[in-house]
Amino acid sequence: MGEKIFIGVAWPYADGLLHLGHIAGAYLPADIFARYHRTKGNEVLMVSGSDQHGTPITIKAEQEGKKPSEIATQYHQQFLDSWQKLGISFDLFTTTGTANHAEVVHDIFLTLLDRGYIYKSTMSQPFCPQCQRFLPDRYIEGTCPYCHSSGARGDQCDKCGKPMNTDELIDAHCRICGSTPVFKDSEHFFLKLTAFEDRLLDWVRQQSHWRQNVLNFTTRYLEEGLKDRAITRDIDWGVPVPVDGFENKRIYVWFEAVIGYLSATKEWAKSSGDEEKWRSFWQGDVKSYYFIGKDNIAFHTIIWPAMLMGYGELNLPYDIPANEFLTIEGRKLSTSRHWAVWLPDYLSRYDPDPLRYLFSINMPETGDTDFSWREFIRRNNDELVATYGNLVHRVLTFVYRNFDGCVPPAGEFDSQTQALLNRAEDTLKTMDELLYRCHFKEAIRSAMSLAQEANRYLDDKSPWKTIKENRPAAATALHAAISVLSCLRTALYPFLPFSSQKLHEYLGFDGKVEDYGWQPTVPEAGQKLLPPQPLFTKLDEKLVEEETSRLEHAHY
Ligand SMILES: [Zn+2]
Ligand SMILES: [Zn+2]
Repeated sequence: MGEKIFIGVAWPYADGLLHLGHIAGAYLPADIFARYHRTKGNEVLMVSGSDQHGTPITIKAEQEGKKPSEIATQYHQQFLDSWQKLGISFDLFTTTGTANHAEVVHDIFLTLLDRGYIYKSTMSQPFCPQCQRFLPDRYIEGTCPYCHSSGARGDQCDKCGKPMNTDELIDAHCRICGSTPVFKDSEHFFLKLTAFEDRLLDWVRQQSHWRQNVLNFTTRYLEEGLKDRAITRDIDWGVPVPVDGFENKRIYVWFEAVIGYLSATKEWAKSSGDEEKWRSFWQGDVKSYYFIGKDNIAFHTIIWPAMLMGYGELNLPYDIPANEFLTIEGRKLSTSRHWAVWLPDYLSRYDPDPLRYLFSINMPETGDTDFSWREFIRRNNDELVATYGNLVHRVLTFVYRNFDGCVPPAGEFDSQTQALLNRAEDTLKTMDELLYRCHFKEAIRSAMSLAQEANRYLDDKSPWKTIKENRPAAATALHAAISVLSCLRTALYPFLPFSSQKLHEYLGFDGKVEDYGWQPTVPEAGQKLLPPQPLFTKLDEKLVEEETSRLEHAHY
């Protein structure tokens, strides 16, 4: 029996299209991890969904004169389309708008309320006299009380990543009309985070396998002391509060969105026909990973674990490999200023694997990384096309033409050939260790260095020359090269699933790459190859200018 791996991925707000920052930050690493574990034969469940609630969506709906549900449905469809085209292989991508989700949220809310971890209290809430409404979360902006940067929202500061209550904001103003709010008393429910402070600190200090940035942020945050957080809002869009007298309020989006990991699992279990199956990913021997961007760390290392501790009987996160940010052409990505590359836009012009490649080899794992069109084109042309694609193409076309479209027989291996084959086997082992610990960048680098090594080997052996005087030697060299290709199709599959599947078929294998396991499966002599096509397409360097100017023009 393999391991059980639960993968939760950040829930995108259904208020806009996905951009490259989302992909590099959370979705691609999660997908690489899921594909790797599936290939290992482990049982994987990867879930997420669109976050249909919260003020980002109501603000967007007001701007466009639509209902929040229309906005949410529209973007949910776009998300599903993007996952399919980019190959993000969710087992379930649902929404927070389902009856199942509300039911699971109510169960957790009422259980925590019953145990005294949720309590009722009056708080002073900003109210806009001009707009005649309360101003929760994104309806209000001001200066962050922690890092003093401007543009902090009522629920969180983007600059320092700290969550906050709206009354903590300095110089707060209404985002709709700019007025200064007055404060009015309003009754709300609070999550008693202070009750979990010691337990959280003890737990976090044991997580030596977490990434340093995640560990540091969380420890610092806990050491500064937690505050109880209001988990209801004066709004009418969201999950209802299951308590009489709260009909005009809703549960705070963050409290309910993190519960989505559990409700999605329950939905998945129900649709599989075995309602109790959710337990197999939430109780007992399962490792739970949460893939998120660094702005979500506190919600996954403190708030969600506190809720789980209070509820009991469910697994705490095992790892939260949060990524840093992606910059675009050297500047901070900003959706409001249109300094972003949108995923559907990318996918309408390019293949998925070159983007997956760039973000794998240059992933913001330990520090911010930059996306530029120049680097995108360069890595596609120099690395995917010239190194890997060319290796595949020259081996397969030559073998196809000279050995009746079949894998040639191997003679005895000389030391150089044996060394290459050992290297291929070692690469899979090394990558196994790296991927297991979520070191994606290092893992793909070792695969690419195997491809370079195989190119050098072929240049040395030059089977296209030796075939005339020593056909068996040429056959042996090509057999070895095909063995390496066959390792590369597995090694690169989590990163480049589309081209790996193609290579798998060119090599004459049936079914899917992941059915063959994380091991060197070498085609036997005589195995029939498919007529090979190039795996990647060279991109014109003129595109750098075209794409950069497209970005500049969209920017304001
Ligand atoms: Zn701040
Ligand atoms: Zn206002």
